[in-house]
Amino acid sequence: MELWWLILPPLFFGLGWLAARIDIRQLLRETRKLPLAYYKGLNFLLNDEQDKAIAEFVEIIKSDPHSVDLNFALGSMFRRKGEHERAILIHQNLLARNDINPEHRLKGQYELALDFVKAGLFDRAEEMLQKLTGSSYARVASQQLLDIYQLEKNWEKAIETANRLADGTASFQNEVAEFHCEMAQRDIANSQPEQAKTNLNKALQIHRKCVRANILLGDIALAEGDFETAIDYWKRIETQEPQYLSLVGTRLMDAYKQANRAAEGLQLLRTYLGSYPALDILDQVFQVISEQEGLDAAKEFLYAELRRNASMLGLKSLVDVELNYVAAERRPDLEAIRSLLHDNTKKLAMYQCQQCGFRARQYYWHCPGCAGWETYPPKLGGEGSAH
Ligand SMILES: [Zn+2]
Repeated sequence: MELWWLILPPLFFGLGWLAARIDIRQLLRETRKLPLAYYKGLNFLLNDEQDKAIAEFVEIIKSDPHSVDLNFALGSMFRRKGEHERAILIHQNLLARNDINPEHRLKGQYELALDFVKAGLFDRAEEMLQKLTGSSYARVASQQLLDIYQLEKNWEKAIETANRLADGTASFQNEVAEFHCEMAQRDIANSQPEQAKTNLNKALQIHRKCVRANILLGDIALAEGDFETAIDYWKRIETQEPQYLSLVGTRLMDAYKQANRAAEGLQLLRTYLGSYPALDILDQVFQVISEQEGLDAAKEFLYAELRRNASMLGLKSLVDVELNYVAAERRPDLEAIRSLLHDNTKKLAMYQCQQCGFRARQYYWHCPGCAGWETYPPKLGGEGSAH
């Protein structure tokens, strides 16, 4: 028996439902009008000719201001080009309409918030992003808020937001510990060491391997004249991430000197150099030996180390030392070699962000180039493999 006719009633019902929701004439008009200019614009986009693409899209929107998707495309293109005011205007106009659906309204709010971020209007961005709480845009909105709070150095709110975002895929442990360290650094600057200690202990609770917290706890102890405690905090770094010891070599030595235990300090640094070779520590040990045991001993040490680990920076230090010994007539030659080595090691004597490649003489926990946290290996760049 033929059963095909059974599907007819639901089919008619379905068509009626569709017709009630879509203005078919409008749909046809749009598809008829769109293609040429739209594909022209798309073509320009694909060829990376943004200006021409924008011109085409502006034309389409002039003749058909109701095309929501095109408004979004244009808005985000203006934002990318840095024309924030025009992007803001497009998204505000879109939100002022009452014929857009709820999902488009949410998207419009989110896009407008991004415009505000790019324009540096953080207060307005924050307000807009907070409106998205509980919506399908809640998570991306929180991620934007987290960026804003970091730019504003509002660490309290950054911690709150990171905790809200933390889940199985991202723990934000490192970041939250770093935020507490930033707060501690602010406390130290405001002469509130007790508050700083509380923040640093929280950082360690959240992230056991937070080296920066132990460095700062040591700094506070040293400022309070408690050398032993300072030394103790810094020595703990060996059990956290030993390669970070290079950041505290000089501090450790200072504390040992102030505690009248300089020889013990030098011994410790030499042990570190043996276990975790790094140019920074090599340089620190070299400095201490020349101070405590004289230039001859320092030179001997440097030769021995260079035989163990050839490095341009080590060689430069060696030439520096040799300049103290060389006869006057040979001095110009050695100075020429020294300046050659200096030019070649300039880049090496810097820290480099692993994420964006930014180089800096100073060590950063928060990269000024890409805003990443703990993206700098704690050693001078370039010669890493030999060490
Ligand atoms: Zn970076």
